[in-house]
Amino acid sequence: MSTNASSHLMPVFARADLAFDRGEGVWLHGADGERYLDFTSGVAVNALGHAHPHLVAALQEQATKLWHMSNLFRSPDGEKVAARLCAASFADVAFFCNSGAEAMEAVIKVVRKHHAAKGHPERYRIITFEGAFHGRTLATLAAGGQEKYLEGFGPRVEGFDQVPHGDVEAVRKAIGPHTAGILIEPVQGEGGVRSAPQSFFKALRQLCDEHGLLLAFDEVQTGMGRTGELFAYQWTGVTPDVMALAKALGGGFPIGACLATADAASGMTPGTHGSTFGGNPLAIAAAGAVLDVMQAPGFFDHVKRMSLLLKQKLASVVDRYPAILSDVRGEGLLVGVKAVIPSGELVAALRGEKLLTVGAGDNVVRFLPPLIATEAEIGEGVARLERACASLDASQRKAV
Ligand code: PLP
Repeated sequence: MSTNASSHLMPVFARADLAFDRGEGVWLHGADGERYLDFTSGVAVNALGHAHPHLVAALQEQATKLWHMSNLFRSPDGEKVAARLCAASFADVAFFCNSGAEAMEAVIKVVRKHHAAKGHPERYRIITFEGAFHGRTLATLAAGGQEKYLEGFGPRVEGFDQVPHGDVEAVRKAIGPHTAGILIEPVQGEGGVRSAPQSFFKALRQLCDEHGLLLAFDEVQTGMGRTGELFAYQWTGVTPDVMALAKALGGGFPIGACLATADAASGMTPGTHGSTFGGNPLAIAAAGAVLDVMQAPGFFDHVKRMSLLLKQKLASVVDRYPAILSDVRGEGLLVGVKAVIPSGELVAALRGEKLLTVGAGDNVVRFLPPLIATEAEIGEGVARLERACASLDASQRKAV
């Protein structure tokens, strides 16, 4: 990692000293003249790879017609994409915004306003889980509850009660007269690709039903096909009342969405929320094109087959290099490998093999190939991991 001291970009990212000129499917062309296999997908954004022809055509066509239109007027294309997302999910309505954190802000506001509109403004608190990540705005940081991100930014936004992940009793105990909802990622992404059994999600749904709480899912990372279904809640055996989407929704064009049932969103009347750019025609064109591809027959069969292949191949590398790797986890193509060595060292070694991956909490390295990756490309990615492990293993032995 290095940060360019002469750059005028605010140095909030620890950027690797690598830049790219263009992308094509799962491949990125580096400014250094090398070709890289991209198993980051822009951190679960480029679900259809780089420069997908259908997305390129949709954006090119829209770019000649209308770039921006304010929300003062109707959005016929926005209505169509909202209708498609609702038809494919539990939701009745969608609010479009520009990022994951904004989608999560909308989720938090929907949950609070739901109770206020029903005459219970005192019910505003939301139960969240340790290891969560919901974004970098002040409210979503408070929801995530991670000290390292909150420190130095003044008083934290009030109204979030964090409990250990997977602990139903802790959730039950945290419910009080001020509780409005429960918020969870179906699979924690940044937290280290951590999932929970169906029984846990069923218990959360039951607690919400018993206590009149809203169940909110953060599907910013898991949504739009990443786990092998369009939405990860489809694996959990329950449906939420409200959910956030972003990342892959625009296939690389910034767009987020908050989807909700009509009842959950009953407080969201004109003037209660808004966004200048939300549902911008270019973003909507991108989202419509992403849906065209993902809703074509066989798309998710492919993702599930690639998931199985990737996990099997990774498990065999884990077995052969126990001093480097310890386990494989995840759903669909949101796959994590827990490292024994510091995960940053593994990510750097993989970069040396021209394979790009993403670190996560719990010393995990995320493998997030585009969902269109072929069998050969999955195999190539694992072969590069194997080469990196062999050389890390050899240098460890030498050091002993
Ligand atoms: N929620 C989850 C689960 C995420 O993984 C992220 C980003 O990684 C966010 C929210 C925030 O999204 P954004 O960076 O687009 O604001």
